[in-house]
Amino acid sequence: MEEKPMYPDRSCLTIDLNQAKTNCRIIQERLAPGRRIMAVVKADAYGHGDVQIARALTEIGIRDFAVSNIDEALRLREHGIPGQILILGYTDPSLAAELILNDITQAILSEEYARALHEAGGEQVRCHIALDTGMRRIGLNADDPAACERAIRELAKTLKVTGLFTHLCVADSEEEDDLLFTHEQIMKYQAVADRVRDLHLETVHCLNSAGGLWHSAESDVMRLGIVLYGLKPDYLNHLPEGIRPVLTWKSVVSMVKTIAPGDCVGYGRTFTAQKPMRIATIPTGYADGYRRDLSNHGWVLIHGKRAPIVGRVCMDQMTVDVTQIPEVRLGTEAVLLGRSGEEEFTADDMAHLIGTIGYEIVCGISKRVKRQYQ
Ligand SMILES: *Cc1c(COP(=O)(O)O)cnc(C)c1O
Repeated sequence: MEEKPMYPDRSCLTIDLNQAKTNCRIIQERLAPGRRIMAVVKADAYGHGDVQIARALTEIGIRDFAVSNIDEALRLREHGIPGQILILGYTDPSLAAELILNDITQAILSEEYARALHEAGGEQVRCHIALDTGMRRIGLNADDPAACERAIRELAKTLKVTGLFTHLCVADSEEEDDLLFTHEQIMKYQAVADRVRDLHLETVHCLNSAGGLWHSAESDVMRLGIVLYGLKPDYLNHLPEGIRPVLTWKSVVSMVKTIAPGDCVGYGRTFTAQKPMRIATIPTGYADGYRRDLSNHGWVLIHGKRAPIVGRVCMDQMTVDVTQIPEVRLGTEAVLLGRSGEEEFTADDMAHLIGTIGYEIVCGISKRVKRQYQ
């Protein structure tokens, strides 16, 4: 029987769960005794698949997870993820009973929020009080530690307060000004933590990936997101040896053609050929989360070479210049993120090219792109 040719998927993410474990272990090995990792798996584990990532990390002993909302938390519970699950953002107070029933820990965003949660029957919700040490997003203002202490003691009377945390907003920067700011954030947090030490809160924490990698502070858990996925908090950062991106994004060549000088490519006729060119069509577009601002700007990797995007990225397709890669044909693999031969193009590289961060690239890969786990 004749074998059918094997064509790669239209658009597919390969998620290397072993690499996620490796990234986690590399950080675990650097941890001071008594510290542990809280894996931040919000936004579907930054697009990598929250249940799969949480399961993989559970296998290497991770027992603390953070998410952004109750739907994400319930999904983890429904799939049998044990341990502490902390919601870092807003939950409608009317869902207090759901939080209790599923043993989910809720961040307390403000005193007003705490009252609302209490009034909605939240006395038994496990809570971590957020401190605002300078980011001005959520939390009790920690500029006045005495007032903050009073507020925490009051809250502890009406809610089941099990933790206290703050968030660092420039821990990824090496600018002197920013280093100073981070130091001040940590000092404010520490001052409040010291004042309520007699409450014996289970988990007091302040470190995200950048904080954990480049700053020191008392923190029972390190809330690690981006570094677990092998990406950098900031493009200028250097990650510890061995930490690598977990995700590879591949598509396929759906058509190859030659165009003539003067021909233009794509919507808006933004690209005009100056010479005969070979153009390959790739069936991935902005509806897949492939950023439209890469039009005439980014590239994909084919046979270990860069194939520049020509014309605009469309909703479901894009066009690339393969004039220099003669072996390209229908079915040839195109690497959108990842390695091909000696070349590599990461979500951090892509983000840098269009003035955003790797986080936004991986979170933005849409659900219609197949996820495959290995
Ligand atoms: C998202 C988030 C984190 C994880 O940040 P990374 O930079 O991905 O490590 C930690 N803490 C809070 C409060 C967050 O919102």
